Parts: sequence; C-alpha cells; structure tokens
Amino acid sequence: MPDHRVVVIGAGIAGLVSALELAHQGLQVTVLEAADAPGGKMRQPRVDGAAIDSGPTVMTMRWVFDEILGRVGTRLDDQLRLTPLSVLARHFWDGASSLDLYADPKRSLDAVGRFAGAQEARRFEHFCRTAREVYLALEGPFIRSCAPSFTSMGGALGARGLATLARIGPMRSLWDSLGQHFRDPRLRQLFARYATYCGSSPWQAPATLMLIAQVELEGVWSVDGGMHELALCLARLAQSRGAQLHLGCHCAEIVIHAGRVRGVRLADGQQIDADSVIFNGDLAALRSGLLGQGARSAAPARAAQRSLSALTWSIHAPARGLALDRHNVFFQDDYASEFEDIFRAGRLPRRPTVYLCAQDRGTGHEPQGAERLLCLVNAPARGDVPADKHTDEDIEQCQTTAFDLLSRCGLSLQPQPHQVLRTTPRDFHRLFPATGGALYGQATHGWMSAFARPGSTSPIPGLYLAGGSVHPGPGVPMAALSGHLAAAALMASPALTKRLHPVATSGGMSMP
Ligand SMILES: Cc1cc2nc3c(=O)[nH]c(=O)nc-3n(C[C@H](O)[C@H](O)[C@H](O)COP(=O)(O)OP(=O)(O)OC[C@H]3O[C@@H](n4cnc5c(N)ncnc54)[C@H](O)[C@@H]3O)c2cc1C
Repeated sequence: MPDHRVVVIGAGIAGLVSALELAHQGLQVTVLEAADAPGGKMRQPRVDGAAIDSGPTVMTMRWVFDEILGRVGTRLDDQLRLTPLSVLARHFWDGASSLDLYADPKRSLDAVGRFAGAQEARRFEHFCRTAREVYLALEGPFIRSCAPSFTSMGGALGARGLATLARIGPMRSLWDSLGQHFRDPRLRQLFARYATYCGSSPWQAPATLMLIAQVELEGVWSVDGGMHELALCLARLAQSRGAQLHLGCHCAEIVIHAGRVRGVRLADGQQIDADSVIFNGDLAALRSGLLGQGARSAAPARAAQRSLSALTWSIHAPARGLALDRHNVFFQDDYASEFEDIFRAGRLPRRPTVYLCAQDRGTGHEPQGAERLLCLVNAPARGDVPADKHTDEDIEQCQTTAFDLLSRCGLSLQPQPHQVLRTTPRDFHRLFPATGGALYGQATHGWMSAFARPGSTSPIPGLYLAGGSVHPGPGVPMAALSGHLAAAALMASPALTKRLHPVATSGGMSMP
C-alpha cells in the first residue's frame, strides 16, 4: 500500500481532506496547487497589511471536522481555536428594522416574537421543527451517502423520511414552501436567502434546501486566525503524515493511458506518475477539456446551470455608526428582482442583498479603528464573457447601490482605495478556471438537481472527484465531506483492496 501513488489536483478543502486521510493511511500523496497558498476559495489576501478572509466566513457543521480529525488521530480542539457565536447573524431591512438570530433557540423565538408578533413566532417555531426533520431525514441517505440516486434514496429514507419530504412537497420551490410557513415577508426573505449558500435562487431551489437553515441554527463558529487557518491546519497535518504539497504548481493534463489514469502532466511539461488521481477543481474544467481530452468524460457531458458568482470587497477600514455583529445581512425590498437579474437577465442585481462579515467582531471584542470586513453581493457567473464598455460601469453602479444600502442602514464606511481589494466574477473565473466565476458548482435548481452531481468515482478507472461541484455539494463542510468520500472510494478500489485481501476466484486462484 505505501507504494500506491496518489496525486491530488487542488488544495481546496476537499483536496486537503482527501490528502490528509490518504496520507494517514500510508499512501504516497502529492498535492498540486496552482495558487500560492492552500485553501482554494478559503483565501485570505492581505489588504492594507491585514489578512482578510475573502471566501467562506460562516463555519457550520463542525461535526464534519471533528470526525475528519478524529479519523486521523487528533482533535479539532487540539489544532484550532473555535468559538461558538451567540449571535448567528444580524439582519437589517433597508434602515427600517433589524432581527438577530441566536444560537440559543429560545432567544431567537423571543426575538422573532418582538419583531413580527406572537403568531409569527409560533410559525417560526414550526418552521424550525420542519427544517430539522428535513435535515435529519436527509443526513444519512443523502449528505453522508457516497452517490445517492433518486431510486436508492427512496429505500434509504424509510417511511418516516418519505413522510417528512412528502409533507414539505419536495417538488415545491423553497420560496413557495416558505410562503406556507411565514406571513411576514421579511422572515420569508431571510430564510429564502439560505438557497444562496449553494449558489441558487430561492425561486428555483427545492424546498428541501430549508435544511441549510437548520444547519446554521445548529450553530456557527468563528475560527481564530480566520477560516483560512482551517486550510493551513489540514495542509500541516497532511504534510506531517508524509504528503508533499507543491504550491504555484498548475496541472495541465490528467494522463490517461489504456483506459486508466497514469499520472498528471504539469504546465512546464513535467510528468508525475500516479496510480490514482483526485481532481479537486470544478467539474467544468474537466468537461471543457482543460485537463486534457482524455479526462473530459469524467464529468457529465451536459452542464447544468451555473451557480452564483459574487462581487466582493475585502476591506480594512473603520466601520462606524451601526452596531454590527460578525455576520450581517442587509436586505432590500423586491427580493425577486435580484434573482431575475442574475439568473434570467445575466446582469448584476440592481437591488442587491449585501452580506457584510465584520471579522473582528462577535467574540466580545469591539474593534478600535480599522477593522477587517468582507462585503459580498451575489452576481451572475459570466466572468468568461468578453468585457464590453458596460462591464466596468455596471460594477461601479452595483458597488454604489450596495454601499448606499449600508449607509441608509446607518453604517459609515469610507475606505481609501488602498484599503479595498475588489474581486469580480472575472477574477473568480481566473482563480477557478472554466467556471465563469461560479463559486458553488452548478446551481441546485429543480428538485432533481441534487442528484445531478456526480459522486466521487468517475467513469475513468483511477480518477476520483472531490469538491463543491460534486456530491454532496458546495459549502466548506459539504466539500470536506466530498474529500472524505473520495478518499474512502479510493481506499475501497480494487487496486487497494485486492492487495490487502486477495480475492479468491471460483477456481480457487487468487486474482493478482
Ligand atoms: C466569496 C465566497 C464566500 C463563501 N462563503 C461560504 C461560507 O460562508 N460558508 C461555507 O461553508 N462556504 C462558503 N463558500 C463556499 C466554499 O468556500 C466552497 O464551497 C468550498 O470552499 C469549495 O471547496 P473545494 O474543495 O471545492 O475547493 P476550491 O476552494 O474550489 O479549491 C479548488 C482548488 O483547486 C485548485 N486547482 C484547480 N484546478 C487546478 C489545476 N489544474 N492545477 C492545480 N490546481 C488546481 C484551485 O487553484 C483551488 O485552489 C464561499 C465561497 C466564496 C468564494
């Protein structure tokens, strides 16, 4: 087994988890990462001297990481300092009202009661119960399962799970379903936004995505040093178990010979031989032939609609005038127009929702002076469409609208140019090739879309898939799970199991 050579292409969260688990099992693991740091979307550029988390900021489902680190003989708490946040998120409606959701369900219930009345609080309680049931029904049969299909799910759900899904109407959209739960349009909007966590429109995402609300209501953590620390931690642990990590190393081709994977070729022409390869980039890169013609068939031929991209501003500047918490969401009215603009018209939203992560807040310390902020609005994944004279104007317009909203809500934020790093869909497309800047793989639109993502095995022997564009989907914990599933599939492959347990044939001979 130690002579089984694995190349992992990409040090995103999934690639790092695969590398760690396989190196821990004693395999020879080499990770090739095009960027100059591990983490992929979990990047942390420096702006005005401050390292700012400029990708994922909301850490949920810590059990995923507890399990991964447990499997490699350590504990999350021994490696990183995680702090549970008491306020999950603070929501503002265009300067008119605000609502905090809390880790403590009782406090959330009271807050919703004060915000929208006792009847709506009861509906909120009922919604939480339903979202929890949906989550519990799907955790085993879908989230943890290696490649669920519509038919396999039916059996795995059992009578109780099927009844839960039948009750919410899985073919209904999340938006419709929330209309059954809430009378207050603001609460409907708040919970609909969870569809965007997997890059989708609430109007097209299935009602089952309410499970994301449950995931957040279960708890949100901050990581000391930022989310990027999680990537550094996994990289460090993988290296301590013998994995080689090569940064600034672009893989140009997955070498396939006689129908199976033989290794990879780097951009400088060098070939690295391997018995197995795990691809952690976006499936779109495979499909479009960026990793060579031979690897194209590893991705489903038909591309589903791209998920959301984003326009982000990583800022190091004072933010005054409004009591921010760590996670802040600023809504406008006419929520539908945001998704019509993005998914139907393919343009930046004219009335964007703005997410602001105040990274120095939420754990009891109020920042003095300049603080680290990530501001994000959703955007269409059209970063590969040639820019025209309107592109920059549209971005400037969207920026003005987004920052005007913050200002109407009372926030005084006037960063100097050197205190801001703007990242556009075009930049995301450069960082994550073939995606157009889509950050969450394909959109989860339509009730069958969750089954459209391939699992960790591919039709090409020796080639495995991991990351946000494969099952179980995007988001840091989900992608991490896909990394685990890819490592498990590789360990269960005939190439490895036959060596451990030679299979007896009917004639009594051992297979080599
Ligand atoms: C702005 C933003 C905010 C987000 N917010 C959240 C959040 O709050 N919570 C949450 O859970 N999730 C969030 N997400 C989503 C989450 O970050 C992703 O789903 C997850 O990190 C994806 O991990 P991955 O394993 O797919 O790898 P990726 O992060 O996509 O990394 C893939 C890596 O592969 C490398 N690579 C690709 N091709 C090659 C090649 N040919 N050669 C070498 N290297 C290659 C790339 O350089 C990259 O580093 C956010 C994402 C973004 C961008």
